[in-house]
Amino acid sequence: MPATSLDIPDQDTTSPPLAKAKVTLLPRKALPFYGRHPWVLASAVQKVEAIGGKKLKEEKLDGEPVDLYNEKNKFVARGFYNSQSRIRVRLFTWSEGEALDETLFRRRIGQAILLRDQIGYEVVADRDQTATRLVFSEGDGLSGLVVDRYGEYLVVQATSLGIAKRIEMIVGILQDLLRPKGILLRADKSMAKLEGVEFTEELHWGELPEGQLIIKENGIAFGLDLREGQKTGFYLDQRENRRAAAAYMKGRRVLDLFCYTGGFALAAAKLGGAKEVLGIDGSKKAIAQAEANAALNQLTNCKFESADAFKTLDRFQGEGTRFDAVVLDPPKFARNRSTVNSALMAYHRVNRQAVDLLEPGGILVTNSCSGSVSREDFLLMLSGVAQKSGRDLQILEVRGAAADHPVSATCLETEYLKCVICRVQ
Ligand code: SAH
Repeated sequence: MPATSLDIPDQDTTSPPLAKAKVTLLPRKALPFYGRHPWVLASAVQKVEAIGGKKLKEEKLDGEPVDLYNEKNKFVARGFYNSQSRIRVRLFTWSEGEALDETLFRRRIGQAILLRDQIGYEVVADRDQTATRLVFSEGDGLSGLVVDRYGEYLVVQATSLGIAKRIEMIVGILQDLLRPKGILLRADKSMAKLEGVEFTEELHWGELPEGQLIIKENGIAFGLDLREGQKTGFYLDQRENRRAAAAYMKGRRVLDLFCYTGGFALAAAKLGGAKEVLGIDGSKKAIAQAEANAALNQLTNCKFESADAFKTLDRFQGEGTRFDAVVLDPPKFARNRSTVNSALMAYHRVNRQAVDLLEPGGILVTNSCSGSVSREDFLLMLSGVAQKSGRDLQILEVRGAAADHPVSATCLETEYLKCVICRVQ
C-alpha cells in the first residue's frame, strides 16, 4: 500500500525502496528459493506488480532489483529481474533489509578475492602461478559475473543483464580493490543473446598488454591474447587436473585431444616427464599458440597439429597407432537436460575410441564440462566403455574444477567439470 505522510508521519522519505517491483510466485514454487537457489524461472512466476501499485511496463524492470514473495505474500528474497531471460529473477539476497547496491557488491567481491588469497591462488609474489579466477558467478554469490586475473590484468565477463547494467560500478570496485593495469570486458555472445545483454563489443579500462601476455601455471609459461582467446583466454578450471594428470605421464607417449593451447600437453612434458606428446585441436590459432608455448618452455618433445579430433581418432584407429596415455577434453556436448542422452552417447563413442588407442596399462584422462551430465552418469558411461571394449578400467582419481571455481551447495549447477583418471588394462 502506498503510504501517505499522514499515515506514517516519521517515515524516512529520503531512502528509496529497495526494489522496483514485487514478483509473486505460483503456489508451491517457493521451496527452492527458501533453499537459496538463485534462479527463479519464468514458469514459477504468478505475477509482477510495481511497488506502490503503479502501472509498469515489464521491460522497464529489466536489470532492476525486485522482491520475491510467496503466494501467501511473504518476502522470500531479492534479486535482479530480466523479462527477456528464462531465468526471470537472479536472487542476490535473502535478507529483506539488504539493498542490492555497491556495498553488497563490494563485500561479495572482497570475499571472493579473500578466498583465493586463503587458498594461495592470489599471491602476487608467487611467480609460478599468475592466473586465477577471482569471481565465479553463483559460486561466489554473484550470479552472472566472472572475473579472471591474468598477471596484472583482469578479464571481466557479464553473463546476466543485472550484472551488465552495473558493469561500471563493478569495474570501479575491482580497480579499487586490486589496482590492475587494465581491465578488459568480454561478452559471452551466446549468453548475451539469452539474456538480452546489449554490449557485444569489447570494452576496456586502463591499458592492455601490447601483443602477448605471458602467464604462469604450475610453473609453466603460457602466452595468451586477452582479446582473442577462447572463453576469457585460458581454461583455468583445469589447472590442478593438468598437474594431477602429469603425475602419471613419466616416460609415456601421450596424445592430448582437444588440446587448445597445450595445457595438459605441456604439463605432461614438463612436470610429468612424458617421452613425447602430440596435441590435436580444431582451432589453428590455438595450435599456433600451443607451438609457441612449447617453445617458450624449451620443450622439444611436444608436437601439435590442427585437425578434427574425431577424424584423428578414426585415422589412428585405421593406422593401428597406439599411445601410452590419452587426454580427452572436448567442448560441451550437452547444452541442456534434453541433450544429455545424445551427449552421453557421444562421450561413449569418443572414450571408446580413446581406450582402443591405448596400450595395456595406458592412462586415460577423460573430461566433461557439460554441467547437465552428472558425475554419476559420466562414470556409468565409462563403465559402459569398459564393458563394451572388454578392457579393465581402473578409476584412479575423480576430480572437479580447481578451487578458484567454488561450487555453491545451494546451486549445484556450479559443479560442471568432471576429470577422471583411469588405468586401462
Ligand atoms: N584441454 C584444453 C581445453 C580444451 S577446450 C586445455 O587444457 O586448455 C576444448 C577444445 O576443443 C577447444 O580448444 C576447441 O578448439 C576444440 N575443439 C572443438 N571441437 C573440436 C573438434 N571437432 N576437433 C578438434 N578440436 C575441437
